[in-house]
Amino acid sequence: MTLFEKIIAREIPADIVFEDEHCLAFRDIHPQAPTHVLLVPKRPIPRLGAATPADHALLGHLLLKAGDVARALGLDATGFRVVINHGPDGGETVPHLHIHLLGGRPLAWPPG
Ligand code: AMP
Repeated sequence: MTLFEKIIAREIPADIVFEDEHCLAFRDIHPQAPTHVLLVPKRPIPRLGAATPADHALLGHLLLKAGDVARALGLDATGFRVVINHGPDGGETVPHLHIHLLGGRPLAWPPG
């Protein structure tokens, strides 16, 4: 089981902000912005590049829900960023696809 599967199964506690039948959103334990939420699919996909056409609807769902969660957390007016890290150079540390939702301060570009 991945760390995020354990959070989904409530074996590890998390500050959950949204849940539906397909995904769970919870606050990152090491926030990089005043709001930093991770949105994860309940059906684990290791990383974005491992997704297949069978994941088409799930990937769309995750992005739509990232927008919904951003709105619900009040980030819509000031703005926010979504990030998906893939592999070592991308900064991936948990092999369970997740969308970072970051907001609450201006975010620099390009990223580090
Ligand atoms: P990534 O580096 O893109 O794989 O992102 C993994 C994220 O998971 C990091 O931002 C970590 O801070 C976060 N993280 C690790 N363990 C936990 C946890 N138990 N609860 C919430 N977030 C976590």
